Amino acid sequence: MKWDFLIVGAGFSGLVAGEQLSKSGFRCKIIDKRDHIGGNAYDKFDEAGVLIHPYGPHYFRTNSQRIIEYLSQFTEWSEVAYEIRSFTKNQYWHFPINLNTFEQWLGRESTEEEWSQWLDEHKVPMTSPANSEEVILSQVGWDLYKAFFEQYTLKQWKKHPKELAASVCGRIPIRTNRDNRYLTEEFQALPLDGYTKMMERIIDSSQGLEVELGVDYLADRNRWDSKHIIYTGPIDAFYDYSFGPLPYRSLRFDYESYNQEQLQTREAESGKPGHWQPVLQVNYPDLDVPYTRTVEIKHATKQDIPASTVVREYPEEWTPEKEPFYPVPTQESAELYQKYKELADRDEHVSFIGRLGCYRYYNMDQVVGMALTESQKLIKKYTRI
Ligand code: FAD
Ligand code: UDP
Repeated sequence: MKWDFLIVGAGFSGLVAGEQLSKSGFRCKIIDKRDHIGGNAYDKFDEAGVLIHPYGPHYFRTNSQRIIEYLSQFTEWSEVAYEIRSFTKNQYWHFPINLNTFEQWLGRESTEEEWSQWLDEHKVPMTSPANSEEVILSQVGWDLYKAFFEQYTLKQWKKHPKELAASVCGRIPIRTNRDNRYLTEEFQALPLDGYTKMMERIIDSSQGLEVELGVDYLADRNRWDSKHIIYTGPIDAFYDYSFGPLPYRSLRFDYESYNQEQLQTREAESGKPGHWQPVLQVNYPDLDVPYTRTVEIKHATKQDIPASTVVREYPEEWTPEKEPFYPVPTQESAELYQKYKELADRDEHVSFIGRLGCYRYYNMDQVVGMALTESQKLIKKYTRI
């Protein structure tokens, strides 16, 4: 056989698996239907010279030393405290909800004690929150849930928070202190030269790893001759949607670049020369605004350039022609995925990894961890033969 491993998808999952396996002497080929590597974490310079994230903002974070050490072979890091605001009721609110948000809510100064007491009085007692509405109600109660979560979630998913797994809104921390950072993981940083550069180095360091772009595996499966396939695309597409398509949510990104003169007109609003908005990301929880968030990535990349680019994110219905950006975590979709998983478990020579291969709302560090673990299993399995 020409290849030991055919890897479908040149995102984080596929590249990390390719690096691990080729380092162990296996002949690996990675293919991707897009014309670039990096999957959804791909970044590039736009016409204004701004390093943008074309598939939505990607904020790297992790608690895993193993993953930091692994990726640090291919990149240096630029630490970032990702800061966002939520815009509703005509003002910018500190978000995730914390003591600073509470002071804005009250319109006066407060203390951690008063805030904790307020939360105790307002949160809805429940032992184990079963969905995304309950997970927020159980922490902050109705008023803050209604202001910041209910409509945003409806807009993003076209589903009520009650229909979504608790893990969806449960991603957002609620704090009693003044910590304004969006994320809680210990390590929060961007690859110093960007994700694409980091991924190019992963490929360059992997002797014999071949990458071919612009090829859809599903268009001609018989073309590839390998002992094992690692598939990081959507699992339902691999099985020709035999149990029906899994639900996904798609997005449309509208980019707008601003030059120095335009940015100068925004100084009062942004409070930060050379920037369009006050912080990296502004969330718009109200349904009358059609987009969910605006991101000005320059706040995080700290690029020194007399321009900036802002992206507005519009949630969209998914159809097979569109990108399946988000698996939709509901009870129904979990049951349907289980059927595909049972087929996958019987396919001894195919591994499904990554966000789409496993139909899980995974972050980048989680898919890197998964690719490392699966590669070790495969190395053992195929070294014995
Ligand atoms: P992908 O990056 O999706 O790569 C899969 C690749 O497979 C794609 O390039 C695709 O073209 C290719 N492919 C699929 N089917 C085929 C086929 N038939 N033939 C050939 N190629 C195929 N994570 C974070 O940690 N922090 C964040 O801030 C963050 N923000 C995000 C924002 C958005 C809008 C989205 C959608 C995701 C975000 N993520 C974030 C998640 C992150 O994108 C994923 O965890 C990670 O990129 C998954 O990597 P992957 O390799 O599994 O999949
Ligand atoms: N969410 C919300 N209001 C916000 C931010 C998030 O209701 O201001 C909910 C929403 O359902 C969203 C989920 O929390 O899909 C997870 O948010 P996160 O920002 O982690 O989403 P991602 O970056 O993965 O799109």
